[in-house]
Formats: sequence, C-alpha cells, structure tokens
Amino acid sequence: MRKLLFQGLFRSPFTEAAPSPDDVAVSELATAVGRAARRRLGRSLSIREVDAGSCNGCELEIHALGNAYYDLERFGLRFVASPRHADVLMVTGPVTKNMREALERTYQATPDPKWVVAVGDCAKDGGCFSGSYAVLGGVGDVVPVDLHIPGCPPTPIAMLKGLLALLERVDSAAEV
Ligand code: SF4
Repeated sequence: MRKLLFQGLFRSPFTEAAPSPDDVAVSELATAVGRAARRRLGRSLSIREVDAGSCNGCELEIHALGNAYYDLERFGLRFVASPRHADVLMVTGPVTKNMREALERTYQATPDPKWVVAVGDCAKDGGCFSGSYAVLGGVGDVVPVDLHIPGCPPTPIAMLKGLLALLERVDSAAEV
C-alpha cells in the first residue's frame, strides 16, 4: 500500500497535454458570430442545447465553448436554460424514441425566428446508433434542421464555424 502511495505521488500524470492555444482563430470566429448575430437579431445570440439521446461526447465539446479557454460569453453568445429564451437549438445525438416528444415540445416552445443546428454525426442520421430499437433516426426526422455540423464529436471550432455559416446564410437570405 505504501509503495502504491509513493508511486502515485511521484509518477507523472496520465493526462494528455492540452492542444496548443489558437486564441486568434477562436476570437476571430467568435467575434464574427457575435457580430452576425447582432446584425441579424439586434442583440446577442442565445442557444439552447438539447440532448436527444447522445453518448455525451458532443455535449463535452459544446460545454467546452463555455469554459475558460473558449469563454463564448465574452463575445455575446450565451447558453440559456429555457427554449423560450433561445434563438438557436443545438441538438445532439440520434433522436431516441423516449426523447422525440421532448424535442418536439422544445422546438414548439422556441419563439420565431428560430434555427435548429444538428450537432455531430448521430444527429444527421442516427450515426453509430442507427438501427437500434431505441432510436428513431436523425434530428431532421423529428424537427426541421437548418444546419448540420459533422464530426464525432465536432470540435468547438467546427461549431463556431457552423454557427457563423448559419447566421451568414440567414443574413444573406434576409437581404434578397
Ligand atoms: S456524434 Fe459521436 S460523440 Fe456525438 S453523440 Fe454521436 S457517438 Fe457521441
């Protein structure tokens, strides 16, 4: 036992080294998303996350957007607790049969204009869970999807790029 304790004290940790910071890319992207949101909505963007049955890998990356490194709130993007306060629903996972009604009700509770972003490979068509007796399919099988961000899971940078692409598309459609 004593030997184990000493080993624990002096052995180097098993954790992987953090990726090298790319502050410029993060802040440029997040600033662009914040600016596009203000142009389109006249205020900051509010996001409600919905887990429709994911393995939580996608949630971990979405949560990273709010951590001290990405710190999205400094650019005016925020996650909200209620769909009634949201502009965007970020939906992860395959939609399970048990979550279908919750997803539909969340969609109905979100005021217009609203956009649905399907996050991750499972959100597209069920991914590695498709065919399961518990899974209905992708997010698009239950509610209309405006944008899909691929990846298993997608990185926070990929999510920022997706949000920017969505807002720019909405912006240019409004100008036509
Ligand atoms: S896309 Fe990958 S990380 Fe996301 S819910 Fe599916 S299996 Fe999990």
